[in-house]
Amino acid sequence: MHLARFPRVKLCHAPTPLEFMPRLTAHLGGPQLWIKRDDATGLATGGNKNRKLEFLLGEALAQGATHIVTQGAVQSNHVRQTAAAAAKLGLKCTALLEHRIKTNDTDYLESGNVLLDRMLGLNIEYREPGLDMNAEAEAKGAAMRAAGEKVYVIPGGGSNPTGALGYAHVALELLAQANEIGLRIDQLVHATGSAGTQAGLVVGLEALNSGIPVLGIGVRNPRDRQEANVHKLCESTAEKLGLKGGIRREAVVANCDYVGEGYGIPTAGMGEALMLCARLEGIFLDPVYSGKGMAGLIDLIRKGHYTQDQNIVFLHTGGQVGLFGYRDFLTSAA
Ligand SMILES: *Cc1c(COP(=O)(O)O)cnc(C)c1O
Repeated sequence: MHLARFPRVKLCHAPTPLEFMPRLTAHLGGPQLWIKRDDATGLATGGNKNRKLEFLLGEALAQGATHIVTQGAVQSNHVRQTAAAAAKLGLKCTALLEHRIKTNDTDYLESGNVLLDRMLGLNIEYREPGLDMNAEAEAKGAAMRAAGEKVYVIPGGGSNPTGALGYAHVALELLAQANEIGLRIDQLVHATGSAGTQAGLVVGLEALNSGIPVLGIGVRNPRDRQEANVHKLCESTAEKLGLKGGIRREAVVANCDYVGEGYGIPTAGMGEALMLCARLEGIFLDPVYSGKGMAGLIDLIRKGHYTQDQNIVFLHTGGQVGLFGYRDFLTSAA
């Protein structure tokens, strides 16, 4: 797995810390809970998308692009991080924001990520829900190319084989950290959405023969569709890396029991997970992804899925800026 063959720009503070969570572990009575702090990747308050953007924008620059086009939900962390990376590199940036959630809440519509998007000078266009948003972004990019712009289109969440390389890289980083401190990792758990994080991790950990299973906790799709999306991206990422033999279908596991009513809609378990991590560890999770991911992990622990001596690493994928879009929910959950 030779990642240095691919163009890349340095955007992240890395390696991110791998920390033990003693008080959350004690509160739940084990397993031993660790956290990989990819909320602390630096640029624009951090998060997992910065990892993917190192390779995506490396490719954009190599192609001579001067204008980045992408898409996401109104409170998209991916869009905020893309806008910041573009600003840092002196590129123009346009994003299509989908009104994926029906709401008139001005905190959701204007605070959090949207506020930072505006500060970053992002060009924003809105779309009604239910469209094929990647097709919308491609169409926008094509129209801009026809008008003479040098455009690079990034799909939602930065999830394509190029973006997934960022998490193949994290597999290397995490394994080196675990080996350094003598930590046997029994499972890696994280929130899975547009699939790039899980696909990159699975490909990297399989290529390294790590023996570390990955569990994605879904935030949007039902299990079948989520696993199929992740596995498909695993295959194309493995191919890009020149790995022989493909990726085992069984290496892709998603649990989609913690979505609740839908993407971005709060659940009681998410509220509890946020307060537990804040009050026991001083760690803020986010309401859309890592909060539901941790809610799933906590529930599985309570249902006896783990033994006390197992070491579980939760990948914190960031997104805390989104907390400010959920002020009413968080005020009552606190
Ligand atoms: C995008 C995102 C995820 C999901 O990652 P995917 O690669 O889209 O599956 C998880 N957590 C946060 C905070 C995110 O912004």
